[in-house]
Amino acid sequence: MLLAVVGVLAAFEAGAREPATAVENTTPAPAPKEEQRFIEVEPLLPLEPIEPVAPSQETPISEVEPLAPEGETAPPVQAEPAVQGDLIVLDPGHGGADQGALGGGGLPEKQLTLLLCELLRTRLEAAGLRVEATRTEDVDRSVKQRIDMANDQRGDLFLSIHASASPSERPHGVEIFYPAAPKGAATGRTRTLLGERVTNPSGESRAAAEVLVEQIRAQGPAELSGIRQVPLRIANSLAMPCVLVEVGYLTNATEESLLRTGDYRERLADALAAGIVAAMKGPAAAGGAS
Ligand SMILES: [Zn+2]
Repeated sequence: MLLAVVGVLAAFEAGAREPATAVENTTPAPAPKEEQRFIEVEPLLPLEPIEPVAPSQETPISEVEPLAPEGETAPPVQAEPAVQGDLIVLDPGHGGADQGALGGGGLPEKQLTLLLCELLRTRLEAAGLRVEATRTEDVDRSVKQRIDMANDQRGDLFLSIHASASPSERPHGVEIFYPAAPKGAATGRTRTLLGERVTNPSGESRAAAEVLVEQIRAQGPAELSGIRQVPLRIANSLAMPCVLVEVGYLTNATEESLLRTGDYRERLADALAAGIVAAMKGPAAAGGAS
């Protein structure tokens, strides 16, 4: 857990390469380091083909069947005018020479994050949101480039996608991070749950993170490992709320094999997209519903 947090912080504070370094000595290494850094994405992995979601499909997000009807199942998400036109900036972690964490089955984090962001884009656009991505192919992007792009586009929410690694094979599950309030920011009203008023982007980040948690709990398919506030320095440079999702542990063999399957990725994207849509209909989109 701690290692994951350190990795997250490194990703945002020191540039994109640090997390790979941090996890390299903890992940199985099927090939020498130099070869790993230049693995070609497509030929390397026999990932299951992803069925493109038909754009004509009507509100696909709302059709997802809740997997965990435990009494707190979130209502189905419907596309509503409230979110029309809001801009989500998707940030697939790593890329290019920086492959991020590497699963024992050979799945590099940089490829997984890109695949998930492509699935998210389809779903979010179907719900009426606009989507930009900090990268759409296997290329390097510095943290500054990612921030500048998001700010230039005037995004309404910055969603960074990563995957975790651990020295132990045991840790698994989705972890969601949101930034601590920057110094000087009004924090008095940021301790809010979904639907409560927030007064600054940090509070909106937390609200969005909590909505994502709700949707993952309600829909699955992943186990939620945790939600936590961390001092993400990127938040001080971003002019919008931001949430970082670690979609699972590539060092957990079971979870990695799930993440290698298209069906699991699609269901994960369904839950995340529903959470994003719900978040944009919440305090951030409504300007503070109390
Ligand atoms: Zn990462």
